Amino acid sequence: MPLIERTLLGPGPSNPYPEAVQGLSAPILGHLDPEFIKVLDRTGDRLRALWGTSNPLTLPLSGTGSLGMEAAFANTVRPGDTAVIAVNGLFGQRMCEVARRYGATVVRADHAWGEPVDVQRVLDAHPSPAVVAAVHAETSTGVLSDIGALGAALRARSDDTLLIADCVTSLGGTEVAVDDWKVDAAYSGTQKCLGVPPGLAPFTFSERAWERRVEDPPVWYIDLGLLGAYVRGGSGGGRAYHHTAPVGMIAALDRTLERIQEEGMQDVAARHRAAGELLQNGLQEMGLELFAAEGHRLPQLTSVKVPEGVDSVKVRERLLTEYGIEIGAGVGEFASSVWRIGLMGHNARLDRAELVLAALRAALK
Ligand code: PLP
Repeated sequence: MPLIERTLLGPGPSNPYPEAVQGLSAPILGHLDPEFIKVLDRTGDRLRALWGTSNPLTLPLSGTGSLGMEAAFANTVRPGDTAVIAVNGLFGQRMCEVARRYGATVVRADHAWGEPVDVQRVLDAHPSPAVVAAVHAETSTGVLSDIGALGAALRARSDDTLLIADCVTSLGGTEVAVDDWKVDAAYSGTQKCLGVPPGLAPFTFSERAWERRVEDPPVWYIDLGLLGAYVRGGSGGGRAYHHTAPVGMIAALDRTLERIQEEGMQDVAARHRAAGELLQNGLQEMGLELFAAEGHRLPQLTSVKVPEGVDSVKVRERLLTEYGIEIGAGVGEFASSVWRIGLMGHNARLDRAELVLAALRAALK
């Protein structure tokens, strides 16, 4: 069977950076091999730089972004704790479901889809929650929220609340500053702006959260106490086996983080902004209307309304079969009225923006 190649301009996965592919094709090492431990440690250092944190517990979890979400709640929420969750799209909704399963009393701070998180609404939802959670870059709608403003407001009110941030679509595309923003647990996914295939969830956990962590979370696989003994070394300094680390994926992430570091995160973010701006201006010049609120649009994920009378599925099919380009449908009630176009990681480029604009123009004729 021939290998099929696609230009992945949907909500993820994106086409990987060449460095990720190189990392995947490197010889596989044992997960306790001293040479691999060096790669793991280096990956931790590079992730700390990208997250903007000094958190010792910073690691790639072995699973997709949703596992990061599970780990964040499993290690911070005890049965009966109040968790305030900002919901402005699908992934805020998913957080409510995950928190509920770990026994939280969930208080939703609901927003219209397409709008950013409103800090005051989150504060007003409950005076003293154990946990507040919000999505930095809502992939279902293409909206960026101000996590720094949320963290500052929460900390000004009290020291009792831990803040969880979903950075699945932001890390590697938009600058993230976990320590400055007073975020206690944050997770991402490799398949979006990090430009690595799906399979790892970069994760970071503050010392504050560590001191208050759930000692015996109900899911063994994401017990940060046990995982910490592997990434940081056990009490004797040695690496305790927990599970077999996905060494090939971690090598791919390591190589890609090196590449991002070499380009510089500021420049990487500027590249995402330039590509997103070109795409969003081009769509509007074609007469299309953007979905996300102006001033809060993600450059890496553009949501655009399907024009009246156009069959959204047919257009996506034509893009895929005639041009080899994948774009995404909308989510939930917007499944057939919105398209989502991602310019993430290796695809955050002007040529990709021009390509999808030209293909859309042809498909809409
Ligand atoms: N959070 C956000 C904002 C996402 O965009 C996604 C995936 O699209 C997830 C969480 C879940 O990640 P995954 O599908 O990698 O499990």
